[in-house]
Amino acid sequence: MELTNISCVKRLMNEENIKFQKKFGQNFLINPDVPRRIADECQTDRDSVILEIGPGIGTLTQYLCENFKKVIAVEIDGGLIPILSKTLAEYDNVTVINADIMKTDLSSLAKEYFDGEKVSVCANLPYYITTPVITKLCESGVLFDTITVMVQKEVASRICSSCGSSDWGAISLFCSYYAKTRKLFDVAPGNFMPPPKVTSTVMQFDIYKEPPVVPKDVNLMFSLIKKAFEQRRKTLVNALSGNFGVSKDDIRSAIIKMGKDENVRGEVLSLEEFSALSDMIYDIISPQNA
Ligand code: SAM
Repeated sequence: MELTNISCVKRLMNEENIKFQKKFGQNFLINPDVPRRIADECQTDRDSVILEIGPGIGTLTQYLCENFKKVIAVEIDGGLIPILSKTLAEYDNVTVINADIMKTDLSSLAKEYFDGEKVSVCANLPYYITTPVITKLCESGVLFDTITVMVQKEVASRICSSCGSSDWGAISLFCSYYAKTRKLFDVAPGNFMPPPKVTSTVMQFDIYKEPPVVPKDVNLMFSLIKKAFEQRRKTLVNALSGNFGVSKDDIRSAIIKMGKDENVRGEVLSLEEFSALSDMIYDIISPQNA
């Protein structure tokens, strides 16, 4: 079935009497080159299981079914399930689950559907939950091999930015703790129905088996990162002081000890430097564990 054909999309939706649900971020792909390329680039190991978030009417799902051993597709919109059972009828390697990915226990899902198998995520993500979904996937404890997602171009730029750039922020640092990230290609609004207002980018997370830094307290490191970027224009000393039970002087001397100017802002610190800073603060607030 040619699911990128506009008349086909309209006919399928009319048959089930359903409309595009803006609240679910439904922008379906209508250029076959895009889902084909995403499916080709999302994982090199054909023996992998793919977790797809938001299959829609199954456009990308079809290519994933062609390329990989098994596909588990989680779709929130119950109205699309009868359509998916038609469009994916010829594939016996797909399971469609009608659920909200944000309310899905990923560890249980992993146990039930891909225990012990190599698993990757692939999705044209609904924009309204991009960051929460990426956060959830990274923190789930499920060791995904790769995560390939289409997101807003600006979000991809922030995630894939480097230390010191104006895009470098809490989300870049968070993602760089879990994965090596890279942009694959841009997708213009005209490739979707209905067209979104913004350009999209397909990007990939190559998940680390071991984290690149091992701070004494990883939660403290992420809290510091969050605070450091809450007000980007503040110096690090001002952004962090009054929090975490350390004085302004403590933070200033920790920053100087790292060889940095006391007036630096958070955006010039790398993940390794945030890890080192968090260890110094940890030693001050938990001297018994230092
Ligand atoms: N994969 C299709 C494509 O590329 O044409 C549709 C992509 S569309 C941008 C996003 C899809 O995610 C929609 O089908 C939408 O209903 C679904 N979705 C939205 N929120 C979701 C959630 N919380 N859990 C699972 N699916 C969701």
